[in-house]
Amino acid sequence: MMGERIDGKNIALAIKEDIKKFIEARKSQNLQIPKVASILVGNDGGSIFYLNNQEKVAISLGLNFEKIHLNVEVEEKELISKIIELNNDDTVSGIILQLPLPKHIDEKKVIANISPLKDIDCLTFVNQGKLYMGEETFLPCTPNSVLTILKSLNIELEGKEVVVIGRSNIVGKPVSALMLKENCTVTTCHSKTRNLKEVCSRADILIVAIGKAKFIDSSYVKDGAIVIDVGTNSVDGKITGDVNFDSVIDVASLVTPVPGGVGALTTTLLMKNACKAVEEYEN
Ligand code: NAP
Repeated sequence: MMGERIDGKNIALAIKEDIKKFIEARKSQNLQIPKVASILVGNDGGSIFYLNNQEKVAISLGLNFEKIHLNVEVEEKELISKIIELNNDDTVSGIILQLPLPKHIDEKKVIANISPLKDIDCLTFVNQGKLYMGEETFLPCTPNSVLTILKSLNIELEGKEVVVIGRSNIVGKPVSALMLKENCTVTTCHSKTRNLKEVCSRADILIVAIGKAKFIDSSYVKDGAIVIDVGTNSVDGKITGDVNFDSVIDVASLVTPVPGGVGALTTTLLMKNACKAVEEYEN
């Protein structure tokens, strides 16, 4: 069986159109336009890339965007007071904090100061708690991208065997929680999992977030399964997934490519959350 490639860019386009319409409608009613404030501390190449991309996407969709670039040596208390200033600024709907922060700053302490009402990437304990309790909150962008892709396929998720490889707080764990909420039967694997191949070969949907280039080949995949590749590994200057696409496409029914899969939706979904935030702020 030769599977099909899932086009993440195409799925993102449809969401972008909805956001543009939302912004146009607000403009015509003289309502507040959502503004995203994105904070970067230091000069990490990956973070600069994400920040610039956020700005580009926000502007192209009609949102307002404020870039806050702080020196790598900024003091923790200065960063926290900047966040408090943004919390109190009624023109700011959503706050994004690029991680990781430099070593001298206590990441958890800083995150705890972001208002949950503006925490559009679900970093705070409050919003993560809501996520794990199955309550409404801003979904974190990468797990939300996985869910949005799966929902766009118009398949029944209820009762499906889902295997997630990876249990990080930013991907594996929240993805597992979201799939559980969809009434899937979820198995979360990690580096101590025994018989990984055997576990993976049970999956109707295999979600891979390991951080090892081309780790998963067709021998891990059940005939006709759907494979979602979250991995973004830099190999010889190229972004490469955790899945060996050319091998897996022979047995899977649908596979996300890297790039052009999960990563193609994340920034757009952050902007969608900022739109949700501006509405909730009013109510
Ligand atoms: P991470 O924090 O390094 O977590 C990796 C997970 O994989 C851990 O739970 C680890 O198990 C598990 N693992 C490692 N080797 C394994 C093995 N041989 N067998 C089974 N499990 C194994 O990484 P992450 O932050 O979740 O990111 C995962 C990947 O997604 C990376 O490539 C990252 O760059 C990418 N990513 C992409 C996006 C996007 O927007 N597309 C966003 C975030 C991350 P233990 O817990 O036992 O160590």
